[in-house]
Amino acid sequence: AQDRMSKSVVTSSPLKIFGNAKKSIRDIFGGIASYVEESKACVQEINDERICSASERVKIGEYTDKVAGIREVLSRDHMKVVFFGRTSNGKSTVINTMLRSKILPSGIGHTTHCFVQVEGSDTTEGYMLLEGSAEKRPVSSLKDLANALSSVKLEENSLIRICWPKNMCSLLKDDVVLLDSPGIDVTPDLDGWIDKFCLDADVFVLVANAESTLMQTEKNFFLKVSEMLSKPTVFILNNRWDASASEPDMMEMVRSQHMERNMEFLCNELKVVNKKEAEGRIFFVSAKEALHNRLTEKGAVTTPLGSVLEGYQSRLFEFAQFERTFEECISRSAVKTKFAQHAHKGKLMACELRELMEALLDRSQSLREEVTKVYSSSTNQLAQLERQLAEISTDIENTIRMVADDVQLKVSRALSD
Ligand code: GDP
Repeated sequence: AQDRMSKSVVTSSPLKIFGNAKKSIRDIFGGIASYVEESKACVQEINDERICSASERVKIGEYTDKVAGIREVLSRDHMKVVFFGRTSNGKSTVINTMLRSKILPSGIGHTTHCFVQVEGSDTTEGYMLLEGSAEKRPVSSLKDLANALSSVKLEENSLIRICWPKNMCSLLKDDVVLLDSPGIDVTPDLDGWIDKFCLDADVFVLVANAESTLMQTEKNFFLKVSEMLSKPTVFILNNRWDASASEPDMMEMVRSQHMERNMEFLCNELKVVNKKEAEGRIFFVSAKEALHNRLTEKGAVTTPLGSVLEGYQSRLFEFAQFERTFEECISRSAVKTKFAQHAHKGKLMACELRELMEALLDRSQSLREEVTKVYSSSTNQLAQLERQLAEISTDIENTIRMVADDVQLKVSRALSD
C-alpha cells in the first residue's frame, strides 16, 4: 500500500502525502472505534463481578469518548504555514500568489494589525469569522474584505479567519491553512504570538525584503520560535527580487551576500539545518510578478505588468521551485507533528483494551475450570455414596435374611418341641 501511495505521490502534489496519511489514520481510528464498541457490548452481557469489575466497565466506556475525541481532532487537522516579516515586505502578496487569487488585500492602506488566517471551506461563497464570534460575515470580493478588515478594530494578537471556497484554490483543497501576521516591526508580543499561533505551525516563511538585510527583530522572532519548537522548518523568501533587475551588474554580488547571511542565520544562529539543506530553504523571488503572471494566465487580469524586467522568467521559476519544496516540507512535517502523537495514542489504547479483554477471558476460563472441578468432584462423591449405600443395603438384606432364617429355625424348633 505504501508503494502505491508513494507512486501516486510522485505524479501528484506532495501535499497528497498528508491527505493520504490523514485518510489512513482516520480509517485506523474507525477500526479502533468499532473494536471499542464490540468490547463494550460484550462486557455489557457479562453480569458477573468475578469476571468484570465495575471499574473495568467504566474504563472500557471511557475509551469510547477518547477515540471519539481523537477522531474529531483528526477531522480538523490541517497543515499550517505562518508568514512573518516586516510590514510591506510582501507577506500578503506571497500568500495571494500561492493561492493564485487576490484574496488578501495588500499594499499601503490595507495593512492589517492582526493575524489573518486563510482556510478552506466547503461553501460556495467566502466568509469571514472574527475572533470570539460565530457570525459569518460574507466576503465575496477583495473590496468587501478590505472594507471589513478596516471596519473592525482588533487587537494585535487577535485572529480573523477567512474561509474561502476550497474548490477555488488547490492549496486550500489539500488542507493547507495560511496565516498572515502583523508586521514584525510593530513592537510584537513575541511570546503571546508564539503561544497562540505558532505552536501548531508546520512551516514558517520569513518574507524578507531583498532590498535590505534581515533585521534583528525578524531574527529574534525565529530565535524565540526555535526555543519553543524543536527544529522548526523555516524558509526565507528574499522578496522584491525584481528590484535587482535595475542593477544587473550588482545582482550576483547582492544575491551571494544575502545567501551568505541567510545561511549564517539558518545554520549557525537558528541551528535548524545544515549548509546543504539551507540552500534549499532560501529563495529569491518577486511575489508581485508571480501573482500578476498567475492572474494573467487565469484571465483574471488583462493589464500588462509594464515592461517585463530582466530575469522575470527565472524569478517565476524560483517561486515555483519554492512552492514545490514548501509542499514537500509541509506535508512531511505535518504528518509527523499532527499524526505521530495520535498514532502513538491509538496504539496504546488498542494494546490496553486488548490486555483488558484478555484478562476478562482468562478470568472467565479459570472460573469455568473451577465450576467443572466442583461438579466432577461432587459427581465422584455421589458415586461413592451410592456404592456405600448399595453395600449397606446388601448388609441389611443379609442381616434380614439371617434374622429371618434364625427366626424360622427357632419357630420350627418350638413347634416340634
Ligand atoms: P505585507 O505588509 O508584508 O503583507 O506586504 P504586501 O503584500 O501588502 O505588499 C506591500 C506592497 O509591496 C504592495 O504594494 C505590493 O504590491 C508590493 N510588493 C509585494 N511583493 C512585491 C515584489 O516582489 N516586488 C515589488 N516590486 N513589489 C512588491
